[in-house]
Amino acid sequence: AKPLLEVKNLKKYFPITKGLLSRTVGHVKAVDDVSFTVMPNETVGLVGESGCGKTTAGRTLLRLLEPTSGEAFFEGRDVFKLEREELRAARRNMQIIFQDPFSSLNPRMTIESIIGEALEFHKIAKGDRRREMVEELLVKVGLQPSYITRYPHEFSGGQRQRLGIARALALNPKFIVCDEAVSALDVSVQAQVINLLQDLQEEFNLSYLFIAHDLSVVKHISDRIAVMYLGQMVEMATCDNLFDTPRHPYTQALLSAIPHPKPGVKQARVVLKGDVPSPINPPSGCRFHTRCPACFAPCSKHEPKTVELEPGHLVRCHLYDKEFAPADLTVFEKL
Ligand code: SF4
Repeated sequence: AKPLLEVKNLKKYFPITKGLLSRTVGHVKAVDDVSFTVMPNETVGLVGESGCGKTTAGRTLLRLLEPTSGEAFFEGRDVFKLEREELRAARRNMQIIFQDPFSSLNPRMTIESIIGEALEFHKIAKGDRRREMVEELLVKVGLQPSYITRYPHEFSGGQRQRLGIARALALNPKFIVCDEAVSALDVSVQAQVINLLQDLQEEFNLSYLFIAHDLSVVKHISDRIAVMYLGQMVEMATCDNLFDTPRHPYTQALLSAIPHPKPGVKQARVVLKGDVPSPINPPSGCRFHTRCPACFAPCSKHEPKTVELEPGHLVRCHLYDKEFAPADLTVFEKL
């Protein structure tokens, strides 16, 4: 099957300006050469600590932010090259659900106008038909159709996130970016919203890019997972492979922070040194070298290439690159 979305070498740099003339003195390299695909009906999890560029990547794909360079083919057409009208049409197929449903829902609008707005904007329905469609959408996301006249503040966090999902679904999209969509919710509500997203995926053949900082959250919904660190993708694999045989030292550290699924099984916790460095001046060579427990000679000098360890399992680390890998690979077991 062909990918629904194919992202190639995506870069998004934000200029840092100084003085009255706004002279550019540097760039925040928020997303720096990221490539991946999303297949039809697939969920790809995108994880990493805050500031790793995952949210910027998601928003750039929908052109809520303009990319610095790269390509993003959605059903074969480069989204980054679409003109205004074409982009508007493409947006029907590409939607986003934000983290904080309250801030993304206008407090002075009723649920009918919030969800119906897009239906009218895209000339899909108005008047009675619009109301009917909004009611149907509320039912789809597990809410009462009578809620249509209410305001966002009358709902709980989980319900507001359901409203955010209804709004994203209104245009019958094929692809939805879930941007930390469940991160602000309690664990039990998180699970309900994830179940809902999975049911809707099946019913509407949706693909998701599921952005979260927590690996244990993406585990339950993702078919494949990409791990980002300081603007770059450091590992990508199927969900099972990533959890069973994580290869990149950063992924291993993230996983070691999650309690083992089997009760009573103790696992060594990999504690990372220091904080995430600034994306303005990322460390030389491998960006993770200042914190990596496996750092060795070439790491601070040479930037690692992405290596495919087995079909679909990509890792960006010198340990797996024949050119640099140390002869003694027992270093892995010590991690
Ligand atoms: Fe660690 Fe070196 Fe691999 Fe970077 S390239 S993750 S510093 S071992």
